[in-house]
Amino acid sequence: MFIQVLPHPSVWPWVPSLFLVHDRKRNAANQAQPTEPDLFFKPGLYRYTLPHVSGMALRELEPLMDQKSGRIDELESHRHEARERNSERWRSSIVLALLCASALYGAYTFCTRPNRHNSTPEDSSPSQMPFSPTYTCLPGQSCWPTTNQWIAFNQSINGHLQATIPWAAPCYTASPNETCQKIAKQYSNGVSRTAQYGSMEFLDWETCGMSQCALDSFNPTAPVTGTCTLGRLSTYHVDVRRPEDISRTLQLARHHGIRISIKNTGHDYFGRSSVANSLAIWTHNLKELKYHKTFRPKGCSARYENVGQIGAGIQAQEAWQYFEPLGMLVTVGAVGSVGLAGGFGQGGGHGPLGPAYGLMVDQALEFDVVTADGQQRTINECTDPDLFWAMRGGGGGNYAVLTSYKFQLHPAVPLNVYSFQAHWPKPTDITESKVHSDVIRALALNQTLFANHGVAGYNFIHPDHIVSLQIMPSSDTEAIKSVTSQWHDFLTNHPDLNITENSYYSFKTLSRWHQFTERPEIARNGPVGLGIIEAGRFIPRDLFASSNNIERLVDAVVTAMQFSFTNKGGGSAQLYATGPANQRDNSKTSVNPAWRDALWEVIMGAAWTTKDSIHARTQIQNTISASIQPFKALTPGGGCYMNEGDWTEENWQQTFFGTNYDRLLAVKRIYDPTSLFNCWKCVGWSGYDE
Ligand SMILES: Cc1cc2nc3c(=O)[nH]c(=O)nc-3n(C[C@H](O)[C@H](O)[C@H](O)COP(=O)(O)OP(=O)(O)OC[C@H]3O[C@@H](n4cnc5c(N)ncnc54)[C@H](O)[C@@H]3O)c2cc1C
Repeated sequence: MFIQVLPHPSVWPWVPSLFLVHDRKRNAANQAQPTEPDLFFKPGLYRYTLPHVSGMALRELEPLMDQKSGRIDELESHRHEARERNSERWRSSIVLALLCASALYGAYTFCTRPNRHNSTPEDSSPSQMPFSPTYTCLPGQSCWPTTNQWIAFNQSINGHLQATIPWAAPCYTASPNETCQKIAKQYSNGVSRTAQYGSMEFLDWETCGMSQCALDSFNPTAPVTGTCTLGRLSTYHVDVRRPEDISRTLQLARHHGIRISIKNTGHDYFGRSSVANSLAIWTHNLKELKYHKTFRPKGCSARYENVGQIGAGIQAQEAWQYFEPLGMLVTVGAVGSVGLAGGFGQGGGHGPLGPAYGLMVDQALEFDVVTADGQQRTINECTDPDLFWAMRGGGGGNYAVLTSYKFQLHPAVPLNVYSFQAHWPKPTDITESKVHSDVIRALALNQTLFANHGVAGYNFIHPDHIVSLQIMPSSDTEAIKSVTSQWHDFLTNHPDLNITENSYYSFKTLSRWHQFTERPEIARNGPVGLGIIEAGRFIPRDLFASSNNIERLVDAVVTAMQFSFTNKGGGSAQLYATGPANQRDNSKTSVNPAWRDALWEVIMGAAWTTKDSIHARTQIQNTISASIQPFKALTPGGGCYMNEGDWTEENWQQTFFGTNYDRLLAVKRIYDPTSLFNCWKCVGWSGYDE
């Protein structure tokens, strides 16, 4: 199969040099100045200059909104001056085009996604009632709250309003400093990146084109040059501690027409948790953890045993560390840093326990949420069946802000694993490579058997090696051997495989299993701190049901790999068998129905770093988008996991939500009629500002 990559014109924003407000020279000049921390927004771009007091920790500068410091006045008065300057500019007719751009940048961060021309927002469909773009107020405009209004708001939420500071800001200074060194050390650590608001897991959604505050991904201690800018990060964020903080934030946003964004860990592959010029709700510090021996959802008669309750900020590893000593398993994903209750727990949530127990949304029993009207509600299938259904699969960031997630736990059993790794010489053409076809065919032939026994699989097929893990949660620790015997014998006896691992393990706990996956050759916890581009597709079970279909599937995998390989995409395919293979009934959840019928989720992906030019990044994006085409051709009308797809996907309603889209949209209109929650290719997406 031949795939052509159409070059998309790059539309990364142009940042006028006029507003590049911080550089090393200037910083050096500042060093002679007195001790007042010089931390404020210049019109449009985030400006960070390290204070002239050596050793002052960045954290000490952060409570910008503390009225006693007076810095909010400074911050907002700079904004006011910018507003004045801008209106003068608009009156002038000199070099109109330049001034238009300057004024735009002068008031807010202009951040548009590349390639967005191929996306169709909800309101452009004539058959759909458009959501009004009500939440368009930008910093510097008259609708933006005044200094006093910000101060009053900050007081109402106990001082938890923060001006956003990019994580790597301390590295954009003239001289090396300890804070920067610490950040550089942790730059590729997925957990560290979630510990503050000012970083996302991937640079795609921290940066905005060349507007960024990033370090060199593979050499983060290397000195950086240029300006530290906010990129796609929000202007301000609320470090939420109580549901009331959320109600008040939503009230302010509604009143002033400000765009809201919601961030938990910042893992989202579509950048739905960071929106430039927004007021962000950061849920990271909602860290409640509870175990209920029995639990009855409010208003329901049914009682459940072994129920977990977590705050919205709990991450997978915090959950298993808490529930493991209680003898309970949680349906986490592959990586400890992902949040359980945000995008994962509202969009799907697959993992090593998926085929045995289902998705995270399958475990959900009750949520505490704050809806767009500011109301705090406890929702479940008895009290609010429509909203609860929509939030069990319809995706995070779109229906309400979730504060607490109550869900089914499972009595612990060992995780029994068959782990295999082998190398071979890199072929010139993967479509002609016998070893690739043999391995993929053998895996596909065994997949139905694996699924029927609740075996989950992570299979990484690279141009020159394979990493394959089959995981069977069971108290019968030997059962995995008989279920995988055919696959094991095939691999063991294949003459072209240079085997480096061919072993069975039994892990008593999830944390032991997780530790095992952190071995460098598996490295399920990384890489982060760079750019990642993904595209995915569900592969339905009928493609595993006949040898003819399996050949078509093998052909699609090698074609996609070869295309990716020759077009700077790396050439790897990830074949995940971690979905709800034995939970076919989708009546209680709103995940894409295609998932209930799938045995594989195929993911094609590639990385970029700050060393790659915008052109190179666009090329990688185009390669990955195109490399999923063979799977689309194989699965007409099919779909993809909304959390692991291609953010440039054109047919996004069908691809991410399938036949559930219309019902999801109807629920959205009831609970969020003005589209206060609005995220990229989420249900009812308005397309505004991205
Ligand atoms: C390294 C890595 C590994 C991954 N592994 C898996 C895996 O094994 N299985 C799997 O299913 N997925 C996996 N994912 C995908 C993951 O599920 C999504 O990225 C998911 O969106 C992460 O949710 P989050 O809340 O942690 O992230 P965030 O980026 O903070 O949020 C994601 C979305 O949820 C919204 N949101 C967050 N918190 C709330 C809240 N309290 N209320 C309402 N909306 C909220 C945000 O606005 C955003 O739209 C992985 C992602 C990465 C980067």
